[in-house]
Amino acid sequence: MDLVRLLADQRCASCGVRGAIVCRLCRGSLPWLAGPLCPRCGEPEREAVIRCPVCRRLGTAVGTVRSAIALSDVGNKLMRSWKDGARAPVAELAAACVVAAVPRPTGDLIVPIPGARSRVAWRGIDGPCDLARMLACRWHLPVRTDLLERVHERPQRGLTAAQRQHNAAGAFAARGVVEGRVVLVDDVMTTGATLRAGVRQLRQAGAGRVDVVTFARVVTRL
Ligand SMILES: [Zn+2]
Ligand SMILES: [Zn+2]
Repeated sequence: MDLVRLLADQRCASCGVRGAIVCRLCRGSLPWLAGPLCPRCGEPEREAVIRCPVCRRLGTAVGTVRSAIALSDVGNKLMRSWKDGARAPVAELAAACVVAAVPRPTGDLIVPIPGARSRVAWRGIDGPCDLARMLACRWHLPVRTDLLERVHERPQRGLTAAQRQHNAAGAFAARGVVEGRVVLVDDVMTTGATLRAGVRQLRQAGAGRVDVVTFARVVTRL
């Protein structure tokens, strides 16, 4: 795994020390999500389970969810670097982490959650799209960025789980007919409301199954 990619003017996306996308110290403290995981939603569990409360929140349309790391201190800093657009290689790091931690899904195509238009226009950063392209390349799957469109973007930040669910419900629309099994990619899963909304649109447009892969996720139960 090529996590330590030395570049001439590279700094650690977490602590800022010169040398690598993420320095050896920060890499060592990346909170990898390792078993036992809920087999459906990938939530870390104290013991083996079949389903869990996160599954209930995700509803029935979502297939499986898998993420590489928990959104802890280092994970948060990486996400901030990524969203700020100051460190594009964070997307490469995220893809390397996902490939290392998540088995290749058995999908037919990869679809990213559409990034917030304001962020894409302002900073030119579309984290989920960048990650989806890199994963498509590594997993040898086609990527389609035109199947799911963001139709409104009221921010999710600061909302309760119920408010997020309501807010996200009408955020996306599928374009055309979607065929086959889709791997839906996002940078982070918080409550799952955004992912649930995206999955429902893809399923309604014809997708036979939609599994979700994210770089990071909020883990609240451990
Ligand atoms: Zn560091
Ligand atoms: Zn679960």
